[in-house]
Amino acid sequence: MKREICIVGAGPAGLYAALSLAKKGIPSTIVDKAFFPRDKVCGEALTSSVLRCIQNLNPEILESQAFKSAKHSIDYLRFFAPNHHSVRIPFDSKINQRVGLESFVSIRRIDLDNVLMDYAKANPLIEVIEGFAVNEVKWLDSGVQVHSNKREQSLEAQMLLIANGYNSKFVKQAGLWEQADESNACGVTAYYENVSGISDGKTAECYLLDDLKSGGLYVLPVAKGLVNVNIAMRNDVRKKYKINLRKVLEENLKSHPALKERFKDAIVVQKPKGHGYHLGVKRRRIIGDRFMLIGDAGGFNDAISANGIAHAMISAEHAAQALKEAYAQKDFSDASFRAYQKKVYRSFFGIRWQGILSQPFFIQPKLLFFFVNKLFSYRGAEDLISLAMYKKNPWSLVFDATFYKLLFGLKKETIPETGKLLNS
Ligand SMILES: Cc1cc2nc3c(=O)[nH]c(=O)nc-3n(C[C@H](O)[C@H](O)[C@H](O)COP(=O)(O)OP(=O)(O)OC[C@H]3O[C@@H](n4cnc5c(N)ncnc54)[C@H](O)[C@@H]3O)c2cc1C
Repeated sequence: MKREICIVGAGPAGLYAALSLAKKGIPSTIVDKAFFPRDKVCGEALTSSVLRCIQNLNPEILESQAFKSAKHSIDYLRFFAPNHHSVRIPFDSKINQRVGLESFVSIRRIDLDNVLMDYAKANPLIEVIEGFAVNEVKWLDSGVQVHSNKREQSLEAQMLLIANGYNSKFVKQAGLWEQADESNACGVTAYYENVSGISDGKTAECYLLDDLKSGGLYVLPVAKGLVNVNIAMRNDVRKKYKINLRKVLEENLKSHPALKERFKDAIVVQKPKGHGYHLGVKRRRIIGDRFMLIGDAGGFNDAISANGIAHAMISAEHAAQALKEAYAQKDFSDASFRAYQKKVYRSFFGIRWQGILSQPFFIQPKLLFFFVNKLFSYRGAEDLISLAMYKKNPWSLVFDATFYKLLFGLKKETIPETGKLLNS
């Protein structure tokens, strides 16, 4: 039987697209190689925009018992510079507060994706096929065919949403772009229990480490007693300095003055596992006849933080809107999706440019370290960073009087002892 719309990949991008299409009255079939619940290597941080995206899709999801019992509220982020100076920044999104939402939460991906999957399975307009690993996509005049290895499973549809995440082979099969090291990054995630001062807390931590050059090591409570430790960094820098991410993660938990205190009684729940992502600094082609790319398959991740769930959901919503029009007119040509490509890059304009402008700091670790070692050693740096954090266009700070008041009010501080560093 021929389907109308086939979505390959049931991560946040694919599931959001299916649910948004259903809300518009449009049926879809979503296929995934995994059987749910399934895990995905991720920092598991949900930023303010992810929470707004889910709220816009269906406010019931955030209120559901399944979501509420799995999420963990996070109120602060503490940043450590390589010289051990630290700043503690509150998560304080005014937009979210206005609509009664938290500013930041963490949740295991196995739980988040499963909550969304359960909503998809319960929706009569969504057909879910698990255990279908798509290996080949064939473009025909009348539609698109997806086949598993040796064509054991096959499906034909009018239109395809490619949502199968980083390094999608269908991007190449569609004749779009190739991977390139300088626009790729990777990360590893491990889980620990019994991490002192973190396990049941509401503060996430980010450590900039000499060993990592330009990457960051994040420590985030994600569930009762469970802590996600992850590292994300550019591939070109990792290769240049021959950095073994798993080794850096495990060694720093034993040797860094703050981390070794935190992890002295920690229990390993899962050893580091790796995954890649594209740095969302390039404008890439994300459409063609009968298909659109959404989520990580489109290569949108925030080049500074590695975050990509919001990008996945925002691109999925734009794709669902574009499909609504295409579906009404039965026009699935490349031309009818140009508005989608434009809207996506308009939505990511600010964040993409922040990524582009920050690249010299990530390629030249000395520059980044000099800047953060200096900035974090000033009292008042926290207020300055807080002000910048929720600005849609950080360069608008240039015209902001508060920015200059805070900048000229910075006061030099002495390096804190490790004890103070952990307790303050
Ligand atoms: C180390 C690390 C840390 C990160 N931390 C964060 C964070 O804290 N916050 C944040 O917002 N983002 C974070 N990200 C990014 C985030 O994980 C991704 O942006 C997000 O998962 C993208 O969602 P997606 O739906 O596009 O792809 P995915 O979540 O990768 O989902 C793709 C789906 O496609 C399926 N699939 C793959 N191939 C096939 C196939 N051939 N056939 C059928 N199905 C297939 C997979 O099983 C999967 O279910 C991090 C990424 C990394 C690597």
